Amino acid sequence: MAERPYIVGNWKMNGTRAMLAQARAIDRASQNLMKVEVAIAPPYTLIHATHREVEQIGVGAQDCHPDPEGAHTGDISATMAADAGAKFAILGHSERRQDHGESNALVAAKASAALEAGMRIILCCGESEETRDAGKAESFVTRQLKASLPENLESPEESLTVAYEPIWAIGTGRTPTVEDIGAMHSAIRALLVELYGEEQGQLVRILYGGSVKPENARELLDADEVGGALVGGASLTAESFLGIVMAAADTADA
Ligand code: PEP
Repeated sequence: MAERPYIVGNWKMNGTRAMLAQARAIDRASQNLMKVEVAIAPPYTLIHATHREVEQIGVGAQDCHPDPEGAHTGDISATMAADAGAKFAILGHSERRQDHGESNALVAAKASAALEAGMRIILCCGESEETRDAGKAESFVTRQLKASLPENLESPEESLTVAYEPIWAIGTGRTPTVEDIGAMHSAIRALLVELYGEEQGQLVRILYGGSVKPENARELLDADEVGGALVGGASLTAESFLGIVMAAADTADA
C-alpha cells in the first residue's frame, strides 16, 4: 500500500444534522491516526455543517454539475460545492452512472469542472457482474476510466484518486478475491503510467470500494496496488468506519 492510505466514506443519500455527531467522532479519532488520510463525502445538505464541525478529516461532495452556474433546477455546481467547504468530489460513481445515465464524457466534464473549482477528484470505475463473467472486466474498466478522465488534469499525483468499485460488490457483502483486486489495480496502474508517465502515474492512489467492512478491511487493503478504500455502508457510523481506518493504520505500520 502507498505510504499514507486514504480512507473515504461515501454517505450517499443518508444523513440529517444528527449525523454530524458521527462526523465529529470520526474527526476526533482520526487526529490520533495521522498515518491515514481520512475523508467523508456527506450529502450536499451537510457539506457546510460538516466542514465547520471537523478539524482534521477531509470533506467532499458526491457529485457536481459540469457548468459553473445556470438554469439546472436541483443541481449543484462544483463552485458551489467548493464554496460550501468541499475539497474533493466523487465522480462517476456507478449509482450516478446507473440512476442518472451518466456517460463517460459527462463524468469527464464534471471532473474538469471540479478541478476548475479547485477540488481534487475521486474518479470511480467498475464493471458489472456480466462483464466480469465474460472475462472482460479489465478491458472494460480501463476503457471506462480512460474515457472518464478530464483533459485539464495537470498534477494527477495531487488532484486525482481512482476508485475501483465492481458494481456487483457495492452494498452486497460480496467482494472480489484479493488476486482479482490486485490484477485490476495493476491494470489501472499501467494505464495511469501510460497516460501520465512513470513518476506521476505511480503516485496516483487507487482505492478499492465494494463491501469494505472492519472485518475484511485489512485483507483488502493489503492487495497489490491498493492505496485505500472508498466505503459506503460501513462509513455511516463512526464505530464501523473507524474500524476500517484502524485497519488502514495497521497496514501502514506493517
Ligand atoms: C460505494 O457505494 O462507494 C460503496 C463502496 O458502497 P459499500 O461500501 O456499501 O459497498
